[in-house]
Amino acid sequence: MAAPQPWWNKYEVQADPQNPQSSSTVKLFSVAGRNDADLAVDAAAVAAAEQRELAARPEATAAAQRALYARVQVPSFTLRDGHTIPAVGLGTWKAAPGEVRAAVHTALQAGYRHIDCASVYQNEEEVGDAVHHVLSAGLVPRSELYICGKVWNNDHAPARVRQACLKSIQALRCEYLDLYLIHWPVTGSVGPELRPSVRETWQAMEGLVREGLVRSIGVSNFGARKLQDILGYAEIPPAVCQVEVHPYHRNDALIAFCRAASIHVTAFSPLGSPDSASIFPRKKPLVLMEDETVRAVAKRTGKNVGQVLIRWALQHGTSVIPKSTSPARIRGNLDVLDWELSAADYAALSTLPFQQRMVNGAMWLNPKGPYTSMEELWDEPELD
Ligand code: NAP
Repeated sequence: MAAPQPWWNKYEVQADPQNPQSSSTVKLFSVAGRNDADLAVDAAAVAAAEQRELAARPEATAAAQRALYARVQVPSFTLRDGHTIPAVGLGTWKAAPGEVRAAVHTALQAGYRHIDCASVYQNEEEVGDAVHHVLSAGLVPRSELYICGKVWNNDHAPARVRQACLKSIQALRCEYLDLYLIHWPVTGSVGPELRPSVRETWQAMEGLVREGLVRSIGVSNFGARKLQDILGYAEIPPAVCQVEVHPYHRNDALIAFCRAASIHVTAFSPLGSPDSASIFPRKKPLVLMEDETVRAVAKRTGKNVGQVLIRWALQHGTSVIPKSTSPARIRGNLDVLDWELSAADYAALSTLPFQQRMVNGAMWLNPKGPYTSMEELWDEPELD
């Protein structure tokens, strides 16, 4: 019996009546030959053909599925401990339960390998579902994934650090963490001294590396003085400092300090964190993605503002972790690897006069200490 003809063969290509010369733009299709019975036959035939293909060539089918997850090669930075960190990752703060599983899955399929997580984001289990899916189906090997976790402020006591780390590994279903950070130099203790001290917490972090639970350790929201203290006693120095960096908060002094100390900087809130304004009220409600210069560069380059800001972060020498749960923006935010901002555009974005922390940590100040002012918290004068 002859194989059924697919219904689309019955379509006829016609010239566009509005533009009869056009051969490549608009084409109209006649649906004269199509009926619903054709559709049903063809759907069954296609499904049967797929099943036959699957049964006959399981390895080829699996390889094709894996290839879907490997379309983009994201470059990496090498850390002082020899491990590498992919230059672009997916942020997951504020990625709501019910959305974050699909977001991580979309990201992994788009080519992201670096996922930025934290227990305080309260979504590690959903992130873990997506991680487990790709690992268990053999779509991405664990060695290609880069999972960052963070120990929260109430888990700084040495005995709790290991427990918190194990809990994150279990939730994220990832066997080990590639990077574990002290989320803030804050513990909730009141008084002149931070209790437990950063030193005690850091020594527990070093224990996690020795035990093989994490590959690299680092800090987040630490200023230069606090980093210098750690460097004074660390047996395993911080490999990464994750801090806020974008054209409204270039953070140049801290980046220069880290560069001199061989500490890699990851830029968080690279788009100016517009969705955290209600959590961290801002002195001036300026929105980075609406900045005139940012918009002008986007127009000139033919890219969107998000892409311009992520590309700026890469050219600024940092890895970068934009957050999105929109499939189109997740994919678009990774489309920053095969083009560059011109020197003039990079310079224009690197000299915006307005500077302000979006994630300012004001909630951690207490007149009794340990941080009584922004200057004490950030180890540098307040910006605005
Ligand atoms: P962000 O990445 O600067 O901005 C996220 C916001 O931008 C979301 O509202 C997102 O909306 C939107 N967005 C994403 N791509 C866009 C595009 N191409 N065009 C327009 N809008 C776009 O903010 P963030 O979440 O503060 O920072 C990123 C990640 O850094 C966090 O998720 C977290 O993983 C990490 N982080 C760490 C710390 C820390 O203390 N260590 C602090 C802050 C952030 P949609 O989701 O709707 O796309």
